[in-house]
Amino acid sequence: MMVHYCQTKCAYKDSILFYRLGDFYEMFFEDAKTVSRELELTLTGKDCGLSERAPMCGIPYHAAETYINRLIDKGYKVAICEQVEDPKTAKGIVKREVTRVVTPGTNLNMQELDEGKNNYLMAIVCVGDHFGVSTADITTGDCYVTEIDEERKLWDEINKFVPAEIICNDAFLVSGVDVDDLRNRLHISVFALESWYFGDDLCKQTLLEHFKISSLEGLGLADYDSGVIAAGSLFRYLLDTQKNTMEHMNKIIPYTTERYMVIDSSSRRNLELVETLREKQKRGSLLWVLDKTKTAMGARMLRSFVEQPLIDADAINERLDAVTELNMQAMLREEIREYLNPVYDLERLVSRISYRSANPRDLLAFKMSLEMIPHIKNLLANFTSPLLVRINEQMDGLEDLYTLLEASITEDPPLAVKEGGIIREGYNEQVDTYRNSKTQGKSWLAQLEAEEKEKTGIRNLKIKYNKVFGYYLEVTNSFKNLVPEYYTRKQTLTNAERYITPKLKELEDMILGAEDKLFALEYDLFCQVREELAAQIPRIQETAKAIAQLDVYASLSVVAQRNNYVRPTVNTKGVIDIKNGRHPVVEKMINNDMFIANDTYLDNGSKRVSVITGPNMAGKSTYMRQTALIVLMAQIGSFVPAEKAKIGVVDRIFTRVGASDDLASGQSTFMVEMTEVANILRNATAKSLLILDEIGRGTSTFDGLSIAWAVIEHISNTKLLGAKTLFATHYHELTELEGKIPGVNNYCIAVKERGDDIVFLRKIVKGGADKSYGIQVAKIAGVPDSVLDRAKELVDELVHTDITSTFKDLAENSRKTKPKAVHYDEVDLEQISLFDTVQDQDIIEELKNLDITMLTPMDAMNTLYRLQNKL
Ligand code: ADP
Repeated sequence: MMVHYCQTKCAYKDSILFYRLGDFYEMFFEDAKTVSRELELTLTGKDCGLSERAPMCGIPYHAAETYINRLIDKGYKVAICEQVEDPKTAKGIVKREVTRVVTPGTNLNMQELDEGKNNYLMAIVCVGDHFGVSTADITTGDCYVTEIDEERKLWDEINKFVPAEIICNDAFLVSGVDVDDLRNRLHISVFALESWYFGDDLCKQTLLEHFKISSLEGLGLADYDSGVIAAGSLFRYLLDTQKNTMEHMNKIIPYTTERYMVIDSSSRRNLELVETLREKQKRGSLLWVLDKTKTAMGARMLRSFVEQPLIDADAINERLDAVTELNMQAMLREEIREYLNPVYDLERLVSRISYRSANPRDLLAFKMSLEMIPHIKNLLANFTSPLLVRINEQMDGLEDLYTLLEASITEDPPLAVKEGGIIREGYNEQVDTYRNSKTQGKSWLAQLEAEEKEKTGIRNLKIKYNKVFGYYLEVTNSFKNLVPEYYTRKQTLTNAERYITPKLKELEDMILGAEDKLFALEYDLFCQVREELAAQIPRIQETAKAIAQLDVYASLSVVAQRNNYVRPTVNTKGVIDIKNGRHPVVEKMINNDMFIANDTYLDNGSKRVSVITGPNMAGKSTYMRQTALIVLMAQIGSFVPAEKAKIGVVDRIFTRVGASDDLASGQSTFMVEMTEVANILRNATAKSLLILDEIGRGTSTFDGLSIAWAVIEHISNTKLLGAKTLFATHYHELTELEGKIPGVNNYCIAVKERGDDIVFLRKIVKGGADKSYGIQVAKIAGVPDSVLDRAKELVDELVHTDITSTFKDLAENSRKTKPKAVHYDEVDLEQISLFDTVQDQDIIEELKNLDITMLTPMDAMNTLYRLQNKL
């Protein structure tokens, strides 16, 4: 057995091997040590023919699921080696095989998984300078593939899906993507697979075989190279770990990242799209406000909508049309939602059907869901918007499956598949007979007894039962002479004889064997029904997606009406004009009518950049985020919290907001801030929306102000960027830029002075704030009076060293000088002379030894930053 164990372990080196021994899964050697450490289980030992006992650790098989989940959660893989023959009938050592490898991205335990969230496995291959990416959720059957040409975009894509597990080739590990950050911050398990997984031919072959097709064109993958390798290796890995044909993975959807709005990872976090920045919970996020879905499928789809807003105005309008119509027919919508309520998670059910693990209760729940579909379709038939009409067409009534389930499965089936009680009466004659034998056995015996009495004339003939002989006919000695020939004597007592007859034997078999046979037959029939469903997986999946979509639009409609949202007018002219906009989340968090609505106007001309000043706590970031969220909501196809909104579609939203949570990664706040600014300046386009909050805060006033200044100059210049921007700052010197740099306008959030105090009015008004009210805000925050008084004294002194005038002069110059074009990729050789004056030999040495070709841009920046600090 130990030899077999070691052979098996060799084939699954990177997994913890759960080796089934009777009622336990045992682990040995290193695995045993790991498991005992991670799960705090006792480590024992076993003699195994070696000089030392093998470390061993065991888990009862019925509790394995919990232990497996805990290990998966910690990023391990678990290979489960089962006994594949009955130990009672096995000759020699029981045959064992690995039946499944559970990994974080292939976990099927529905209790552990969040039903409102996909559990993704992502395969990434780095080929040359680009990446193939394939993402799948085996619990729902979703599978996507794309190709990406830049590390940054790949990073954004990973942040969009946040898979539980990434499998990759070695080249990805050294590609510059921060794998530690993936592991530590995003809790993604990253496994590099052996290189053969990524062989061109094997990948193609795997896909062709799995999808039973002869060319990749059929999958829409003809033009994909690295994408095919990613998808091929993903399926190879799935087949190897799941040891299952996975009929529900019957589609790959190729997509390009250009189809969706680009939201980089820090903006995703800052805008709190699906979870809050700090607590990482749904409550308080945009999704929390928008999600009034009734089904798990709808909840997952809405999440993916929020994570990838559209950029095509027609597609957005189509969604908005659907929501509008659902609003207008609110009564019908509510009826639809009532029918959606009991609809079960059909996607995850399909995966259980495909794995043949769906139990009788699953099928009952499935039937109850199917019962809703005709009603939903009927109601949906009243709608005329193209999207809703398409959804209705896509939704298959699945009446045949309903009929099958209605006929075959009882109203109250058990969870277990082998204990009977599954099949409905009338579905199968044999089942009915067996069931009758069980319950009606007694009356059959009574009937037989009466018949035999009649036939033989033995008046006191009795059918009795004992454990040794089973059923028998007992005849007292006085009637012995009437016993007919077909009676076979079994036993003689002093005053009676006991007999059996073929008929009695038959009844006995029926009565005693009925239960076993019934259970076995019910199991067979149940499996047949499940097979029939398995054959219809694609139809069920289509319907599931249609239901999910309907649920999403119904939810958007409900939210729009309950929260008083308005339909945005989507345009491609680049004008964002919001009247009385509100922050969708903040207005829910504070008392509804306490929220002060504000306007936003941005265009590609004279109103490109708004510089927003106002004291801390005035509401600057709320206002800016609200604008970003309204634009984003519109592009999802949602109504928006405003009185009126015209939304010019934006291709990307970038936000740079406050101190970020990257502090834990060991970088200085300023470094993080500048890296993000660099990213924004490089990747934003004239069609992007930028939200910049307090740029330059992390360094000295002069530096910070200068950087902020230069950034505004760059952004507002249409030759360089010209993106629509909201720029909040507490440097009121920046208000000097209005009128001097084209496209820049000042706004501030109004406050009212009342003696020494200030009142926040939360209203955005034209013009710049001339004071920062820092001391008043400090007072509100509870800073002691003595400190406040001293601060006031200092302010008075410092006012004399006013820097505003210096910047006034600068602003004048800025109008006169033309901004320089920026070439990021060219190294300015002039700069090198800078170092001529540096005396520090260490720094020179370090620079000399630096292998620049091996540095990522991020490393280069870090190195520069460190070197600069040494000067
Ligand atoms: P700033 O960025 O100027 O420091 P914030 O945007 O963080 O200020 O706002 C501070 C607080 O003021 C928020 O937490 C919110 O509760 C409240 N607030 C902001 N804007 C509004 C508004 N328009 N209406 C009501 N309350 C608001």
